[in-house]
Amino acid sequence: MAAQIISGNEVAKSIRAELKEEISRMKAGGVTPGLVVIIVGEDAASQVYVRKKGEACQELGIHSETIRLPPDTKEAELLSLIDKYNADSKFDGILVQLPLPKHISEEKVLVRIDPGKDVDGFHPINVGKMVVGAADCYLPCTPHGVQELLMRSGNDPKGKHVVVLGRSNIVGKPITNILLQKAPGADATVTICHSRTKDLKEFTLRADIIVAAMGVPNFLKADMVKEGVVIIDVGVNRISDPTAKGGCRLVGDVDFESVKEKAKAITPVPGGVGPMTITMLMKNTVKAAKIHHGWKD
Ligand code: NAP
Repeated sequence: MAAQIISGNEVAKSIRAELKEEISRMKAGGVTPGLVVIIVGEDAASQVYVRKKGEACQELGIHSETIRLPPDTKEAELLSLIDKYNADSKFDGILVQLPLPKHISEEKVLVRIDPGKDVDGFHPINVGKMVVGAADCYLPCTPHGVQELLMRSGNDPKGKHVVVLGRSNIVGKPITNILLQKAPGADATVTICHSRTKDLKEFTLRADIIVAAMGVPNFLKADMVKEGVVIIDVGVNRISDPTAKGGCRLVGDVDFESVKEKAKAITPVPGGVGPMTITMLMKNTVKAAKIHHGWKD
């Protein structure tokens, strides 16, 4: 049977429609969520992400500002700018676009953001809250998007064996923690694999759900999964393809064409996890505004 294709574009669209409605109710009640995005330097991919974040805010009615700083900005200047926005009640969320130029410590910058405004979910306070399952934490956007994709496509992880491929701090570790919580949308048994895992195929063959976040193009093949598996492919890899416009194309960590023949459901790349990340940032910003203003639905 053909696999269900889980469209991140569609899921993101419906979450954005819900947020738009929520934000207009909040605005009518005198609360406008606000997000400031700070970018240092000229990295082309980061410029695109930042522009898309601004556009998403505009689409949903979130007040937003983008602060563009030159590549030679001093660490101290960035830290004092963060202090300024920590104290500015117009902004519920502060996002500093990564990567930063090498002379600036990402760690120092991330811990300087008020954890209550850390809508990217990278501050150690929020990471700790995620681990203990605190309700007021901001979950990191990409793994939170993975959870939403599972739930909204009818693939509840409750009681399932989830195998996560990759143990990074931004995807692998957080999705593991999110899905093992004793909570709706979680309650899974989670195994995490990485580059030192022996006989990785033995784990993937036993998985009901696989979340692939390795950054290795087309790594997961059909012979590594069981019939009826659900696949969430977080990987985004640019590979050369002389037949494609520009000579290259994007692929995930999963060999989509072969695996979709065995899977019950699968996300494509592009159009799967990708569109969810900015949408979950918007959701975190709305959550922050509700917490800051004591907003009750
Ligand atoms: P990362 O920091 O490079 O981590 C990769 C992880 O995969 C590591 O834990 C590594 O193991 C493991 N790994 C690498 N090769 C492996 C192999 N052959 N077998 C088993 N494990 C292996 O990457 P990341 O930042 O988590 O990103 C992963 C992918 O997701 C990338 O393609 C990235 O572009 C994509 N991504 C997409 C989004 C989105 O919005 N769609 C957001 C974030 C990331 P070790 O720890 O042992 O080295």
